Amino acid sequence: MPHVHVLALIEHSNVDDEIEERLGAILYPHAYYFEFSPVTVPCECIWSSDEGIDAANRTVGDFHKLWHAFHSTPEAHRLQWTTFIKEWEDTASQTTRSSPHAKPPDPQCDVCYGSGTFITTTPPTGLRYEAWAPNQWEKLGRASEISIDPGQFDSIVTPDGQAYTRYHILRSQSAEEWAEHTRMLLRHHADQLAIRCFVNK
Ligand SMILES: [Zn+2]
Repeated sequence: MPHVHVLALIEHSNVDDEIEERLGAILYPHAYYFEFSPVTVPCECIWSSDEGIDAANRTVGDFHKLWHAFHSTPEAHRLQWTTFIKEWEDTASQTTRSSPHAKPPDPQCDVCYGSGTFITTTPPTGLRYEAWAPNQWEKLGRASEISIDPGQFDSIVTPDGQAYTRYHILRSQSAEEWAEHTRMLLRHHADQLAIRCFVNK
């Protein structure tokens, strides 16, 4: 089980309990075992489900960012989850079906039973790690001031809950492109506190 370093950017605090709480709020929803409210996603038997999910993340909003925003809104002021997430679900399904790589849903599929979509409560996208030890983290300092090798982290999670992962997001293995992306994220979140975290993938 590989040990992976994740760079988490959170609102500044000098209180360890607060730091752990903020890390938990943006990291836990990326764990395999995290349970979301039900979400309808395109099935892999269509072959292009990843394209659909990528398109929904890009055009409607990153799934984790939407989840984080939903939970940061007081219940009295927010929509029902099913209404809130519907555009994301529809975009993911429609883009999957209209992709040139799409195949007809498999009537024998034991996940969607030929419907092409299924309901899940596990993360449909994101880091999807096995385990995170909440007490294992290291404060690096303010994002604008830290000196790290910009290529050393393969994943970065921003305060809105969105994860940026080197190979998944860029579909490129260019070290310089990822380093530039990392520098851009650090500039964009210059006032945030940078934390090195350890997760098991
Ligand atoms: Zn299926």
